[in-house]
Amino acid sequence: MQNMSISLKDGPALEIERESLTALDALKLLNVKRPERLVAAEVNGEICDLSRPIGQNAQLAPVYVDSEKGLEILRHSAAHVMAMAVRELFPGVKVTIGPAIEDGFYYDFDYERPFREDDLPRIEEKMGEIIEEDLAFSRREMSAQEAVDWFKRHSEDYKVELIRDLGAEKVSLYTQGSFTDLCRGPHIPSTGLIKAFRLLKVAGAYWRGDENRAMLSRIYGTAFADPKRLKEYLHRLEEAQRRNHVKLGPQLELFSTHEEIGAGMIVWHPKGMMLRHILEEFEIREHLKRDYEMVKGPELLKTELWKKSGHFENYRENMYFTTIDEQSYGIKPMNCLAHMLIYRSKIRSYRDLPRRYFELGTVHRHERSGVLHGLLRVREFTQDDAHIICMPEQLNGEIKGVLNFVKDVMAIFNFDYDLEVSTRPEKSIGSDEDWKMATDALMRAMEDEGLPYEINEGDGAFYGPKIDVKLKDALGRKWQCATIQCDFTLPEKFDLFYIDKDGQKRRPAMIHRVIVGAIERFIGVLIEHYAGAFPTWLAPVQAMVLTVTDRNIPFGEQVLSELREAEVRIEGDFRNEKLGLKVREAQLQKIPYMLIVGDKECEKGGVTPRKRDGQNLPLMSPEEFLHLISEENKIGGNGHSKET
Ligand SMILES: [Zn+2]
Ligand SMILES: [Zn+2]
Repeated sequence: MQNMSISLKDGPALEIERESLTALDALKLLNVKRPERLVAAEVNGEICDLSRPIGQNAQLAPVYVDSEKGLEILRHSAAHVMAMAVRELFPGVKVTIGPAIEDGFYYDFDYERPFREDDLPRIEEKMGEIIEEDLAFSRREMSAQEAVDWFKRHSEDYKVELIRDLGAEKVSLYTQGSFTDLCRGPHIPSTGLIKAFRLLKVAGAYWRGDENRAMLSRIYGTAFADPKRLKEYLHRLEEAQRRNHVKLGPQLELFSTHEEIGAGMIVWHPKGMMLRHILEEFEIREHLKRDYEMVKGPELLKTELWKKSGHFENYRENMYFTTIDEQSYGIKPMNCLAHMLIYRSKIRSYRDLPRRYFELGTVHRHERSGVLHGLLRVREFTQDDAHIICMPEQLNGEIKGVLNFVKDVMAIFNFDYDLEVSTRPEKSIGSDEDWKMATDALMRAMEDEGLPYEINEGDGAFYGPKIDVKLKDALGRKWQCATIQCDFTLPEKFDLFYIDKDGQKRRPAMIHRVIVGAIERFIGVLIEHYAGAFPTWLAPVQAMVLTVTDRNIPFGEQVLSELREAEVRIEGDFRNEKLGLKVREAQLQKIPYMLIVGDKECEKGGVTPRKRDGQNLPLMSPEEFLHLISEENKIGGNGHSKET
């Protein structure tokens, strides 16, 4: 018998005289802590079942149920348990695939009818029984042909298709109790390890995402290492539902979408348009402060120009085209081209650089209907877009300037964020040299500013690498908003140049950048971030005058017009209704201040402000209230609200 050497990473090796040592045996011999929390093992860098014989010299690492990898294995195993429960409860159902996903798992089924939310409790109960039985997951390998025969016998056509497409000689099957699934593994040792799970929702999904194939029924669920974590997660889900902008948008009368108008097109209602206007004014102020110039290009540009820029070649499937007077035009999906023509409209010297052209540019992009979602993914949107055209040696300073711009703006909205650099994608234009220079410029600027960042290989725009800014909202969710892209290629294609100190023509560099990105998307994120309760400077309606009785209406109207004239965004509720009802309604609309006007207020010529969180302020004059609002407006950099 041969000796085998096993060790933990950085640990001493142990010589063992056994042939059939499993990963679990080895980990126990190596005295790992908490063996009851193990779900798998890493053996020579590969994650495998605890029951797998190691059969060779091995370096091992434990995989615990509460680690990221462990949770993934737990959740995928829960998907097998769910599939088993569904098969037992719904005879004739065919199983397809059931992967772990971020925060949970799903399994797709083909059944005579779609599953419904009210099927879930029964399935959960059955899963509970399977978990209670603590059935072991056992693995066996067989030839692909044997597996095909096996699944054919059990009428699992989808599995047969999967095995054929795999094209492997051998496949592995996992069995727990009466249920066998085609799977690479690994799995938890037995079903009893699933201590906390919940089924969440059902949805339709095409087999292999192909709309020409069968429509399947997908059941989503999640599992955690312990009930406390599950409870926290369910609470976060509930909170996310409460903040869902698709629900809050219409409820707060901000926006709507209409089948009659078209998918991915937003209709802005008065309050939403006011919110948008406030944001756009904010954007313009912030850009002018930083020496940007406002410009605007047209919506339609000749297709010839899109060919010249490379958009036709690389971005055509996302664009819309139309023909006017037998001439083909493309609706702009980006704002760059007109900005370059503005630059090229006269000869620029090194003294003129940098030029920073800013446009609240409305663009159209064809997104697949399946990915459209509320304000987050739409087909028409407006970007706070700018193009900075500068000398290559100014690039570093300009990128830092944009990074600081992002920092200032995100602080105003209380967003933390992470930075990621995306490098050259497969479909792209430009030389390797230019790509390297551009990527280095972005990385160096972040390093100079001491900002940590991650790298996304191959995720850049077709014309250059980019920095993506991922916002973290009040629930810790990440949102892609700002991007900074560095580009040497478009200036080349459009023959942009400047006259340098020595009188020579030189090629400038170009930065494409957005700070909040698409205004639509940013508003969607803001609604969820603030749960609809916007800070006063941003609130479409800042205050609501509420009268107590009809006697108070004349004074109420006086307060209303006085404050409105002073540019407070204010409305009145003078209905002959109980004050309590009016307060509740204003609170549902998340209006920052309710101004109560009763007999006492009329007599003293003041108002009693009540905040939306229920806090009452002392009776004050309309002028004092105006002062308070003006102070809060300053957060958004707007100090121009007149004081009377
Ligand atoms: Zn599996
Ligand atoms: Zn651009």
